[in-house]
Amino acid sequence: MEVPPLEAGSLLPFIGRERLGALADAAAQARHALGGATVWNISSTAAGGGVAEMLPLLVGYARGSGVDARWVVLDCDEAFFQITKRLHNRLHGATGDGGALGRTESVSYSAVMAANAAALTERVRRDDVAVLHDPQAAGLAGALSELGVRVIWRCHVGTERTNGFTDEAWAFLTPQLEGSHAFVFSHRGFVPRHLGGKDVWVIPPSIDPLSPKNPKLSAATVRALLGRIDLAPGPDGAGTMGSASTRGAGLVASQERLVVQVSRWDRLKDMQGVLEGFADRMAGRSDCRLALVGPAVAEVSDDPEGAAVLGECVAAWESLPTRQRDAIRLVTLPMDDLELNALMVNAVQRRADVVVQKSLEEGFGLTVAEAMWKSRPVVASAVGGIVDQVAPGTGVLLADPSDLVAFGDALADLLARSDELAAMGRRARRRIRSHFLSDRHLVDYARLLVHVAGV
Ligand code: UDP
Repeated sequence: MEVPPLEAGSLLPFIGRERLGALADAAAQARHALGGATVWNISSTAAGGGVAEMLPLLVGYARGSGVDARWVVLDCDEAFFQITKRLHNRLHGATGDGGALGRTESVSYSAVMAANAAALTERVRRDDVAVLHDPQAAGLAGALSELGVRVIWRCHVGTERTNGFTDEAWAFLTPQLEGSHAFVFSHRGFVPRHLGGKDVWVIPPSIDPLSPKNPKLSAATVRALLGRIDLAPGPDGAGTMGSASTRGAGLVASQERLVVQVSRWDRLKDMQGVLEGFADRMAGRSDCRLALVGPAVAEVSDDPEGAAVLGECVAAWESLPTRQRDAIRLVTLPMDDLELNALMVNAVQRRADVVVQKSLEEGFGLTVAEAMWKSRPVVASAVGGIVDQVAPGTGVLLADPSDLVAFGDALADLLARSDELAAMGRRARRRIRSHFLSDRHLVDYARLLVHVAGV
């Protein structure tokens, strides 16, 4: 991937001089330790999901600070993604498509890894560092470490539970990870027991104030962007965005309150549960609307279940009584222009009165940080990395994400406390500023690189 360098100095208004100085020091130490070695980030998709969201920024800042960081996307086919989606689901303790993760799958997975490793052999050098992201890239560890590359496996998913599915995923992955020098998890509770004695780091993800997803937008720009996806009256009174598709009756009027969940069409994000919980408790009883917003399904290459999950949501929405259906919009955003997609997500999150992330399991949930940074109170599941983000007074955590009645009640209760929402939102923004912006993430990475370079 082409990643233009980014200038860390632009973060100054958000992080202040002290943090900027700490970042510059950390970068200098990493540069020194690496001594000209390249840091390869290897992931499975150029668009869609949190990893693709973060890499252009992290790699961009690293390049801007003089570290030769690169981002490479694997060459994989649909059969491979079917296996890795199964792994993704099972690392979350869920069955996914119910298919096998046995010897046949292991052989096909290894063949794709071997082909990708062969392509990389030409490019990597001894003493380079490779950061392999998620189960999709895990199987490169052995081949790269044999070439003298220091290998870090970064796992962005997980669950605190263990069950037969997590056991199966780890049984599949553990041999593939042979050769890794260090392991990174987003959340302490995700570290599996069998990695206890290894070189394990916990580094939570981050968002960036300067990515098009996050900067302040004027009210007029928010309206114009929402107009393009048929969520608000556009300048000409109607939506104009050909490839975005919004299901639902009419535009959301400016006096109506809007609840939003933005996520991939993944069962573990439970868009359907949000729809049903909202329909039961909220729809038709108030001036409140729900928008479920996700990517156009054909455009997220490593997520083969997207179309089916969107289809299930559409069917659930179509089966609602008219009054409930009319309160809910299902939106798919085009991904062909990633900057426009990000601006649309930004506008939707800013228009929202409350942002929901009712995931059944969640690695981190960048969407939570994005909403909190925009001073939006959140109603989110108490799972995985979401718990690290939603501090007391910044939103509501759902103890049991599958309890739709509790979800509806929490939402109704929060919306009823309208005089508290602004203060909650301000605390939410402060929480993200102090813990989850790019500089903290880059400093963590710099420490890891210094450590690994010395191994
Ligand atoms: N996202 C997006 N367009 C969409 C849906 C999601 O840009 O239509 C982004 C979202 O804003 C966030 C990322 O995809 O930055 C999702 O990351 P998260 O950690 O929430 O979940 P993941 O998809 O990695 O499981």
